[in-house]
Amino acid sequence: MLTHTLGFPRIGRHRELKKAVESFWRGERTAADLTATCKELRITHWKEQRDAGIDIITVGDFSLYDSMLDTAAMVGCIPERYGWNGESVELDTYFAMARGESERGMTAMEMTKWFDTNYHYIVPEFTQNQIFSLSCEKLFHEIEEARVEHKRVKAVLPGPFTFLRLGKAVGSPFDTMSLLPGLLDVYSEIIHRLSSVCEWIQLDEPVLALNLPQELVPQFRQAYMNILQQARPAKVMLSTYFGAISHNRSFVSQLEIDALHLDCVRAPEQLEFMLPELAPQTCLSLGVVDGRNIWRVDAQKAITLCETAVSVVGLDRVMIAPSCSLLHTPVDLDEETALPAEVKNWMAFALQKCREVRMIADAVRGHGDPVLLKENADAWEARRNSTSIRNDIVRQRVENMTPDMLCRHTPYDQRRTVQRALHGLPLLPTTTIGSFPQTTEIRATRSQWKKGALSVEEYTETMRGFIKDVVEKQEEIGLDVLVHGEPERNDMVEYFGEQLDGFCFTKNGWVQSYGSRCVKPPVIFGDVSRPAPMTVEWTRYARSLTQKPMKGMLTGPVTILCWSFVRDDQPRSMTCTQIAFAIRDEVHDLERSGVDIIQIDEPALREGLPLRDEDKAEYLRWAVDCFRLAANGVDDGTQIHTHMCYAEFNEILGAIVEMDADVISIEASRSGMELLEAFREFQYPNEIGPGVYDIHSPRVPGVAEMEGLLRRAIAVIPVQRLWVNPDCGLKTRGWSEAHAALKNMVEAARIVRGSMI
Ligand code: GLN
Ligand code: ZN
Repeated sequence: MLTHTLGFPRIGRHRELKKAVESFWRGERTAADLTATCKELRITHWKEQRDAGIDIITVGDFSLYDSMLDTAAMVGCIPERYGWNGESVELDTYFAMARGESERGMTAMEMTKWFDTNYHYIVPEFTQNQIFSLSCEKLFHEIEEARVEHKRVKAVLPGPFTFLRLGKAVGSPFDTMSLLPGLLDVYSEIIHRLSSVCEWIQLDEPVLALNLPQELVPQFRQAYMNILQQARPAKVMLSTYFGAISHNRSFVSQLEIDALHLDCVRAPEQLEFMLPELAPQTCLSLGVVDGRNIWRVDAQKAITLCETAVSVVGLDRVMIAPSCSLLHTPVDLDEETALPAEVKNWMAFALQKCREVRMIADAVRGHGDPVLLKENADAWEARRNSTSIRNDIVRQRVENMTPDMLCRHTPYDQRRTVQRALHGLPLLPTTTIGSFPQTTEIRATRSQWKKGALSVEEYTETMRGFIKDVVEKQEEIGLDVLVHGEPERNDMVEYFGEQLDGFCFTKNGWVQSYGSRCVKPPVIFGDVSRPAPMTVEWTRYARSLTQKPMKGMLTGPVTILCWSFVRDDQPRSMTCTQIAFAIRDEVHDLERSGVDIIQIDEPALREGLPLRDEDKAEYLRWAVDCFRLAANGVDDGTQIHTHMCYAEFNEILGAIVEMDADVISIEASRSGMELLEAFREFQYPNEIGPGVYDIHSPRVPGVAEMEGLLRRAIAVIPVQRLWVNPDCGLKTRGWSEAHAALKNMVEAARIVRGSMI
């Protein structure tokens, strides 16, 4: 019974890859230096996996930026603007595709979330006459590198269907699947070359977990038949993850592949459907160790699942692995020295997960290590009985929740009248999304405070200075609804997590988000509660500085949930409800302190959507309810805002309406207000601020440009319900741009307002 992984984190236990790549970008390192560091990292990662008991070494999971981009380079799918000469793709072209290159006027390729993870891949661009050709030797070089030390090697690359489905058509619209024959020619060549140098070839086809159009089925079958022919004598593993593929079982089980990998963490129930149908020559790779989270495997549960499979297909047709690539977990738990010992004992990072795979495989073969198995069972026992994960008051509250808690007292139209009278806002009120530039001084103050180098008084005094400054600047700019600027927040989730019970934080738990960028998600390990107000003092202070309305700023429960490592011992909806109660209390305290405009950001609401259509409604139900629980316990006069920053709203418009926020601010400027079309058809009933200024770019938009966008918005949304604001928070911008852009925005609003009266 072989063990393997689908992929390992490439970033390095101390983010060596990030540092190497970034210093190469800055010109501090040569390409040769970079190449050497990468080689060292790969060799270390292979060895570490091997030492942890992984039988087959996976090669091809390493990337300088992203694997989809690597594949685009390998098959010569290079958009024209990079001026590629058709020869081997070199580093400068590769990084220009990933990040753009302003000197040569090249924009980057688009990047988007990899399924429902927080990892972003580079979206391949296809033209209608796309020609593919083998254009990069990276994978073959790495295989040679691995073969020096390791006999059993598995090459991994995205399967042709996933590669085409996740790419986008540029130029005139066409079905990217029409490019399959050309792509398969190159894949055949690749597979053929791999066939003599590795034992296994793993093709990742996570698109099988989605709803796949039926007309693709014959093509899929044909494609894999060809691939198998080219692959001999190597074996082909088709790997799927992030969900069940049982809806595609009738044809997947007929493919004569050598192994099929199933995600048995996300979708253990699919085993029952897949087992009886598996073709006789196909092995089953069971993904029983969670590659998406940081908890120890429940060994007993995993072993039982594997034994079920073994009882049907036999020992030699079963392989054991993590559920998906370990890319989504941090590298090594042993690096964590400051975690609460109790919670650390429940956790496993990538390396520990490799050992768990070994432990389970041994146990299923009847050679289980009693010490390790007992340690695992004891940890789970301790976790189940721990008093630090249980908070009976919170559980009581969730149990006693009543439907009226989710609703405002009166419908929007009536609230609107009260709010208008109370806030005295002009037509087309102007505001911002919350954060203002995080200057070097702000960051230095926060980091000194963290280090303990400042007293509470010193810290508070300095922060108040920043807040005062931001309030004054907003008054000078002429904005209508002000904010305090969020100088005290490093990150919109971490800031709240640090003040909530039930959360803990790693020191080194970095996970790649995109390119060299990593995030360190908080860990939710227990029932969530709020021991004390979290934002009230800062907001109250800001409010005392001005006659204008001051908007309080909170992060919503769904976003806090989505951007954390979530406990796996209760449903996500339960954890989210607990967070919602904590935010509800904060809303209540803000309201009591006199803050009567409160924004609750939910930028992650959409990314939490399940992959399968049939699961979406249930998620949206509880996600919207959690927002409502957090937001709707307020008086009529309190105006609730929410903010989301992405442009594809169509799928969740109904849910957004149900949230019943008084005002929503959304991203719109990058698409030239295109998304308003959706709102035209849908008739959004409350107020809305479509962003008129793209904060992701350092460019300062002119008055006329924003005026134009506003007029386009007025054509779709009644002017009485329109707000004027940027696309998102300004924390990544410099002051000079932010100031100039906001001045122009306020001026544009003034002009349009004037022409309305
Ligand atoms: N209030 C947050 C800010 O302005 C919102 C950030 C976000 O939407 N991602 O920074
Ligand atoms: Zn935003």
